[in-house]
Amino acid sequence: MKIALIKPAIGTKLHSLYVDEGRMEPLQLGVLAGLLTGYAEVLLYDDRMEKIQYDKPFDIAMITIETYTAKRAYEIAEEFKKRNVTVMMGGMHARLIPEEVLEHCDSIILGDAENIMDKVIEDFKTNNLKRVYEGGVVIPPQKGVFPRRDLYKGKGYLPISLIQFSRGCVHNCNYCAVSRYFNSRHYTRNIDEVIKEIEFQNRKFLFFVDDNFAANKEKAKEFLKALIPLKVHWVSQGSIDMLYDDELMELIVKSGGLGFVMGFESINEASLDFMGKRVNKLNGFNKFKWEIERLRYWGLQTWAAFTIGHDTDTVESIKATLDFSIQNKFTFAAFNILMPYPNTPLYNKLKEENRLLYGGKWWLDDSYRFNNAAFIPKNMTPDELSEVGFYCRNEFNKPSSLLYRMFEFNTNMASLHRFIIYWIYNPLFRKEVYKKQGMLFGLKRYLERNNSAER
Ligand code: SF4
Repeated sequence: MKIALIKPAIGTKLHSLYVDEGRMEPLQLGVLAGLLTGYAEVLLYDDRMEKIQYDKPFDIAMITIETYTAKRAYEIAEEFKKRNVTVMMGGMHARLIPEEVLEHCDSIILGDAENIMDKVIEDFKTNNLKRVYEGGVVIPPQKGVFPRRDLYKGKGYLPISLIQFSRGCVHNCNYCAVSRYFNSRHYTRNIDEVIKEIEFQNRKFLFFVDDNFAANKEKAKEFLKALIPLKVHWVSQGSIDMLYDDELMELIVKSGGLGFVMGFESINEASLDFMGKRVNKLNGFNKFKWEIERLRYWGLQTWAAFTIGHDTDTVESIKATLDFSIQNKFTFAAFNILMPYPNTPLYNKLKEENRLLYGGKWWLDDSYRFNNAAFIPKNMTPDELSEVGFYCRNEFNKPSSLLYRMFEFNTNMASLHRFIIYWIYNPLFRKEVYKKQGMLFGLKRYLERNNSAER
């Protein structure tokens, strides 16, 4: 049996093919390939950087689908279906809106694939494939499965290995697709397996792609103690409450932790309340003064993530967020427009209030452009929100801001290694800001316009 595993691209600028600057290995497909070992010959296609070989004699195409890649995933599915290949889909978007995804494929896997893949393969072989497979949540995640990293070779990924220690998050921010997907639960992997996986690959720079690395602090401590002897450097994603636990923070630093993507989300307390971000106010709220001091104390380079467009935001308050992020010399920052992901509490609220744009399906709309508002904000127009979002990204990544932010001696200039990270990744993200802005979803129109064969 031959199976194609596909990671779809997001889209295109229409006049030029968008090529992702920060190309990371698609860990979920590596894990899926590991899971299929012994069942099938597997080929991995990363649509962001290579042509999909539709005409090879595949039995099944398995496509991972996120809301941002849904339109492209459906185009790819169409190509496979023309060739009578069975199409299966799984991933975040399939869980959020299965009825839509099912219109474009033969079968979907909801949740984790680990528990049900043998059943899926058996059903396919006996011509009895079901429309929906409910994988539920595998505990511990990735149980006994190691990603097929050999499939990444030669594709030009950034030299950083993606590894998962845990899945999910215990918090319940109302705009968050992760909290809906995992029902506000957090699951950690078997620590011995994670350590073994790290030892099996040869890189010393790791990205733990967890939704919230230390949501279970005691488990995280246990893992970090086991990680110390491996002498790696790593980054991950976490919530601000981890800063209140000194033992945890010390272990993070000792085990090679360099930095975190952290959801500050807003410097406006009313906006934090609006989004249900209680985790950012556990210690009261003083515009993160204490938290930023702790981040500096521990020397962690921070990617501060903000969401903009809440009902309590104004153009001025968003610009104040930009000033805050430059003044505090964050290593990186993201100013993400609040996106109504299907069937999240935020989506349902905006729908009830009749404030969704693009017929409520921005991810499929031909005129929707990346980084534009997909709903009507309260205190500004959708265009104003889109513009101020770009303004923040542009200003934060300007050379003058880069130079100013560089002079943070506990983080960006704490060592040559950190200084290099600062100067490698900031220009890369700056480039990405311009390349992605205004991109259209899907590739079909680009390919037709340029008379290219489907790639
Ligand atoms: S802390 Fe982060 S991952 Fe957890 S629910 Fe909130 S936004 Fe989602």
